Amino acid sequence: MHVHIIGGGIIGLASALYLRREGAEVTVVERGRLDDNCSFGNAGLVAPSHFVPLASPGVVSKGLRWMLSSRSPFYIHPRLDFDLIRWLWLFFRSSRSPRVAEAMPLLRDFNMMSKELYAELAALPGMDFAFEARGLLMVYHTAKGEAGELALAETARRLGLDVEVWDRDQTAAVAGTLGAQVRGAVYYADDAHLYPSRLMPQLRRYLETQGVHFLLGTEVRRFELADGRVRRLHTASGQHIEVEEVVVAAGAWTGKLLRQLGLRLPMQGAKGYSVTLERPPQRPALPLILTEAKVAITPMGDDLRIGGTLELAGFDGRINRPRVEGVMDSIRPYLPELPLPDLKRDAVWRGFRPCTPDGLPYLGRLARVPNLTVAAGHAMVGLSLGAATGKLVSELVTRQQPSLPLDMFRPERFG
Ligand SMILES: Cc1cc2nc3c(=O)[nH]c(=O)nc-3n(C[C@H](O)[C@H](O)[C@H](O)COP(=O)(O)OP(=O)(O)OC[C@H]3O[C@@H](n4cnc5c(N)ncnc54)[C@H](O)[C@@H]3O)c2cc1C
Repeated sequence: MHVHIIGGGIIGLASALYLRREGAEVTVVERGRLDDNCSFGNAGLVAPSHFVPLASPGVVSKGLRWMLSSRSPFYIHPRLDFDLIRWLWLFFRSSRSPRVAEAMPLLRDFNMMSKELYAELAALPGMDFAFEARGLLMVYHTAKGEAGELALAETARRLGLDVEVWDRDQTAAVAGTLGAQVRGAVYYADDAHLYPSRLMPQLRRYLETQGVHFLLGTEVRRFELADGRVRRLHTASGQHIEVEEVVVAAGAWTGKLLRQLGLRLPMQGAKGYSVTLERPPQRPALPLILTEAKVAITPMGDDLRIGGTLELAGFDGRINRPRVEGVMDSIRPYLPELPLPDLKRDAVWRGFRPCTPDGLPYLGRLARVPNLTVAAGHAMVGLSLGAATGKLVSELVTRQQPSLPLDMFRPERFG
């Protein structure tokens, strides 16, 4: 069997890995050069603690309040765009659905499966991507933030996760000097982290040694169908590629690409930023999420990455300086002594998280086009779910029983 995978982010590369292990011939078709995409500059968290889908109760009202500030962690660029309006409506509806609670144990298992697979990957020859399974701290500095995190910790415990509530002193021992208002943290022992911008090139090189082919600088524009199956991919440069099985792992662009098949997979690219400090003089010993500020701070190898914000502003790749400054300023009340980047000198990275309206990925074979499998829309947890998604894709494409129930992730669920 020959499988063409469209997109070389973590989802595409992990799919290539497990499909190749199943004996498939695999070609990754990528419009870029595989030197950057959303899978490179993210915060590197492999996080069973992230078992709540993005579209969950409370997110909408908080988001509306944040929208009024130019430096807040969440922003929607107001515009008359029918796709955005429909997406927001579906998001609002999904956030109130009982499916939020149903999804939690599944997301826990999905993340746990991925963590195990990353641990295996880290042991492969040529892999050195600073994988560490030592947990994560959710730090809070307001009474409201604390109450919210303690309630979440209780749910996590009910789901069987290993969770501890830490006081100020325990938190400071790991995070460094704390601001006067910091009240403590919840420690999620099951979480892990890694260095994504090392993982991605190492995984690509490993795949090449395993015989996976790469067609770089090749943008897929159109699918040619015969008898209801995709037969050819048409590229921007006029190439026609004959195909047998196709996996679409085109990240935030997946909805747009599939639209020309008459399919509606609502998707928004949610821009986020990160800055990586090389060998800072001090850094926390574990990854931290500053919960009220929605900022992630991850030690990666000897370096430190700070990431945050979620902007729904179309595919405008420009860096919104006030928002990045807002991220940095929001750190001070938690960690007054943490070395921060100099935004005039240090490069700001940006990427587009692929966001579905219910916060759950699209993962499955299309009912209407049976030789096309979709794997996209992992929002804030695409790295975390990446390895397991690759394994699940290989099971779907080779028609084995998937390791997890995938009904909630049906790609055609929005019509
Ligand atoms: C600031 C920030 C922090 C984050 N932190 C975390 C974290 O700590 N943990 C976590 O799990 N997730 C995190 N994420 C989210 C995570 O990075 C994404 O969910 C994940 O990278 C998505 O991977 P992907 O393979 O679906 O998409 P991408 O990495 O975007 O890859 C898609 C690829 O498809 C290609 N492509 C698109 N269209 C076509 C086409 N027509 N033809 C050919 N190629 C095409 C693109 O060029 C791209 O290379 C973070 C994101 C941001 C922005």
